[in-house]
Amino acid sequence: MKVPILMYHNIARVPPGVEVYRSLYVSPAAFARQMSLLRTLGYRGVSMSDAMPYLRGEQQGKVAVITLDDGYVDNLDSAVSTLHRHGFTATCYVVSGRMGQYNMWDADKLGVRKPLMTAEQLRSWHGAGMEVGAHTRTHVRLSQCDDAQQRDEIAGCKAELEDRLGIPVTQFCYPYGDYDDRAVGVAREAGYAAATTTHRGRAATGAATDLWRLPRIQVARHHLLPQVAAKVLTGYEDKRS
Ligand SMILES: [Zn+2]
Repeated sequence: MKVPILMYHNIARVPPGVEVYRSLYVSPAAFARQMSLLRTLGYRGVSMSDAMPYLRGEQQGKVAVITLDDGYVDNLDSAVSTLHRHGFTATCYVVSGRMGQYNMWDADKLGVRKPLMTAEQLRSWHGAGMEVGAHTRTHVRLSQCDDAQQRDEIAGCKAELEDRLGIPVTQFCYPYGDYDDRAVGVAREAGYAAATTTHRGRAATGAATDLWRLPRIQVARHHLLPQVAAKVLTGYEDKRS
C-alpha cells in the first residue's frame, strides 16, 4: 500500500497584494474540507513520526501524512483546530535559525513577509499533539553548501530545535526539495529517522521505500477536492514522479 504524504505551506487566505506563488496558500476552509475528505475516504491524517511504522511496512492501514513546510504562524492559528476535530496529527518542518522571524529566504521574490512561529508558539504546536520537524537552520540550498555547512544546517538544526524546545526532533525536510547524496548521508548520521523531498508521488512502503528521499504530494490553492482525492487514492501523482 502506498502512503500519500501531503505538502502544505500556508493555511491562510492569500494576503492582499500578493500576486506570485499564490499556490502556496490553502485557505482554512479549503484545508478543513480536505481533512474531511481524507476522513471520508477512510484515511487517518498523521505526522511523519506516526507514519513511520506504516512506511517501514511494520503496520498496515490507510494513513495520509500531513506536512507543513517552514513553520508559519498560520499553521498554529488555522490548522490545529481542524486537525483536532478529526483526531489527526501533522508535522511542521521548522527553520531553526528563523524562529519568530519571517521567510527571509524568499520574501523579496514573493513580495510578502510571512511570520514564522516563535519557540513558544512551537511549544504550543507540540503541546497540541503536533510534531516539530527540521528544515535546516536558514533554509539553504543544500547541494550548494560545502560539507561543513551541510552539517551545520542539517545536524545543527536538530540540535538547535531540541535545545530551544526541549523535545526530540527526528524528521527532516530538504528546503526547495534540493539535496544531494552528501546531504542524505549527513541527515542519516545526524540521527533523523526520515527525510522528505518535493519529488512527486505517493511513498512506497517496506523494503520498496527510500526513507531519505520520500516523495510528496503538493496541495495547492487551485486544487479542487476531486483532484485532491485523485492524488491521494490513485497513481495520478506517482506517474508524474
Ligand atoms: Zn521550505
